[in-house]
Amino acid sequence: YAAKETGGRRLRFSPALDERATSHAQLGAELRTALDEGQFFMVYQPIVALPEGRAAAVEALVRWRHPQRGLVSPAEFVPVAEHNGLIVELGAWILRTAAARMQAWQCELGPAAPGYVSVNVSARQLSEPDFPEFLASVLAQTSLPASSLTVEVTETAVFDSSTAMEALRAIKALGVRIALDDFGTGHSSLGLLRTAPVDVLKVDKSFVDDLADTGHSVIATALVDVSAHLGLTAIAEGVETQEQADALYRMGYRYLQGYLYGRPEESPTFRTPVASTV
Ligand code: C2E
Ligand code: MG
Ligand code: MG
Ligand code: MG
Repeated sequence: YAAKETGGRRLRFSPALDERATSHAQLGAELRTALDEGQFFMVYQPIVALPEGRAAAVEALVRWRHPQRGLVSPAEFVPVAEHNGLIVELGAWILRTAAARMQAWQCELGPAAPGYVSVNVSARQLSEPDFPEFLASVLAQTSLPASSLTVEVTETAVFDSSTAMEALRAIKALGVRIALDDFGTGHSSLGLLRTAPVDVLKVDKSFVDDLADTGHSVIATALVDVSAHLGLTAIAEGVETQEQADALYRMGYRYLQGYLYGRPEESPTFRTPVASTV
């Protein structure tokens, strides 16, 4: 089992699909039904700002409650949805849902609301010619300020693709920020940080997992330094222990995300922390 939950109700993902029992084609067909029958829902995980520990932002993550299989991991179904193209429609639903939720928090909570919602956008979505236009329409329909939305794309999605780069420029022109997700796992071109219109660098969990490894901690330090020099915000992903948080803080990280601060939940609460977390 992948030990991840949606918070209060402590839901666990179902065991990985058995290749022999369930083909990707079957899963793909079920995704269509899932969209039509409303089996998807969103969870939100805080990205905290140190030293205060307030939720500076939330990352929106999709979940699928399958009527027979239970909770299926996005690591399993997002690639299938990308492959059969359904990610475009699912991604549109994700963006509308997350934007509307963010707007509702701003109305309810005012200054206590997180500063922005960060939404994962797949390569396939980004390459749709009308994606920036669609994004603009979501902002208009939900009355969400562009500055309250960030889109997360992976290096692989933008690397070597002039179409993706153009889309990013158009997105940025709307006032929406762009985060490079899972940095350090793909092509990891530092040149990309300079040429792509990126605002946020999300340093992959693999570096955080193994900070005791000198090589990993050297890279984690280099990435926060490069970010500062290029005017990017660095976020460390997958922080699970106080030791990791302390080490990252000493390296210069001021934005952390991980189970230490909160799991993805359907209805997270945003309280103003009373004590510093570091
Ligand atoms: P990601 O965008 O890098 O999201 C971070 C993943 O790490 C999430 O897994 C999150 O639950 C998990 N995580 C956060 N903190 C910790 C921690 O401290 N420890 C551990 N072990 N894990 C942590 P999740 O929700 O299962 O999503 C997996 C991937 O699926 C995402 O990676 C993203 O690539 C994709 N995904 C999820 N939601 C969406 C979505 O709405 N749209 C698209 N296109 N992709 C999505
Ligand atoms: Mg992400
Ligand atoms: Mg990530
Ligand atoms: Mg990751």
